[in-house]
Amino acid sequence: MKEDLKVYDNVLQLVGDTPLIKLNHITSDLPGQFYTKLEACNPGHSTKDRIALYIIEEAERKGILKPGDTIIETTSGNTGFSIAMVSIIKGYECILAVSSKSSADKIDMLKTMGAKVYVCPAHVSADDPRSYYQVAKRLHEERKGSIYINQYFNELNMDAHYKSTGPEIWKQTEGKITHLVACSGTGGTISGTARYLKEQNPNIKVLGIDAYGSVLKKYHQTREFDAEEIYPYRIEGLGKNLIPTATDFDMIDDFMKVTDEESAHTARNLAKTEGMFVGYTSGAAMQGTMQYADQGEFDENSVVVIIFPDHGSRYMSKVFNDKWMSEQGFTDSKNDVEATPIEY
Ligand code: PMP
Repeated sequence: MKEDLKVYDNVLQLVGDTPLIKLNHITSDLPGQFYTKLEACNPGHSTKDRIALYIIEEAERKGILKPGDTIIETTSGNTGFSIAMVSIIKGYECILAVSSKSSADKIDMLKTMGAKVYVCPAHVSADDPRSYYQVAKRLHEERKGSIYINQYFNELNMDAHYKSTGPEIWKQTEGKITHLVACSGTGGTISGTARYLKEQNPNIKVLGIDAYGSVLKKYHQTREFDAEEIYPYRIEGLGKNLIPTATDFDMIDDFMKVTDEESAHTARNLAKTEGMFVGYTSGAAMQGTMQYADQGEFDENSVVVIIFPDHGSRYMSKVFNDKWMSEQGFTDSKNDVEATPIEY
């Protein structure tokens, strides 16, 4: 028996302290060492466990949340799952307003975790009364004894990563990290982690991953919101059609945009090459890292940490479904590792 085998009081004690795992195949032609921070190892299978637990415990500490109160949030799925999980353990009601772009699997999972789910249209503007932001805001105003997590505009989102993800990566790499690669949605993960790491070593380069169809990269370059950048895309949880105040853009050195198609093929390849069954945005983060490598960003001294936000099981009806892939026209599998099923 392992010496450190221990018993936990509940699943919340397993949030954070996720492993850092070396990539051995997908990066074999690239200079430097590449590690992934595997956030699927959180009990709710994503990085969002960290912010759900941190923000709710901060509200408890400040006396804002009382037993039996309601927690409301807008979410692409992961934050909702984490809030639902924390709510069950701590005895709160959980109400979630989600985008219709969220996968059916994710919505079913939220319901399984006891949340009340409102599905709102994906391609309306943020100030449209039907948008999931406005629906959540309205529910919060109507309900006494409720808090609205508001992850895109809540600075505690960044703090959660400043206090956990950042120190963990610094410790796990023994201070040798040279580059951090992370997706940006709310921006909490990348800017909170970056703030801690840059305090330890200002030379660490922080590379953000954005989607085509999102405003973040352009905003980072110009500090201006450009609505022309916005169009629908398929990756869930990455990029945005507004500027979140939970992102500290000064902490990010550069942004790379990735396509839906290449990110999907790369997510599938991570499973087949590294045995890592991770989500669509992990494929996007890996794809962006390879694009940075093509630009000569890394050398043999580079120690690159890529954050993989969630688990692949959430995308069985999408990226890991061959029919869905071909319906999207994602047939160019030049990057795919061959794994054709054998019929007999
Ligand atoms: N990947 C997935 C799957 C997500 O749900 C999110 C959160 N929207 C992100 C990446 C981006 O993380 P953050 O919100 O901390 O920028």
